[in-house]
Amino acid sequence: MPRKITDACLSCGSCVDSCPAGAIFEGDSHYEIDASACLDCGACEDGCPNGAIVAE
Ligand code: SF4
Ligand code: SF4
Repeated sequence: MPRKITDACLSCGSCVDSCPAGAIFEGDSHYEIDASACLDCGACEDGCPNGAIVAE
C-alpha cells in the first residue's frame, strides 16, 4: 500500500526531496502523496518532524 500524509502535516516541505519518485506535492490543506506514483519505499517517513506520513 502507498504511504499517506495525514492532517498532522505541518506543510514544512522537507519530505518532498526525500521521495525518489517525486510523488509528494503540496495539496490544498497540507502536503499529499500521489498514490499512483508512490513506490512504498518508506524513505519519506523518518524525515517527517510530526509523524504525519503513515502506511495506509
Ligand atoms: S515532512 Fe511531514 S510535516 Fe513536513 S510536509 Fe512532509 S508530511 Fe508534512
Ligand atoms: S514511500 Fe517512498 S515513493 Fe512513497 S511517497 Fe514516500 S518516499 Fe515517495
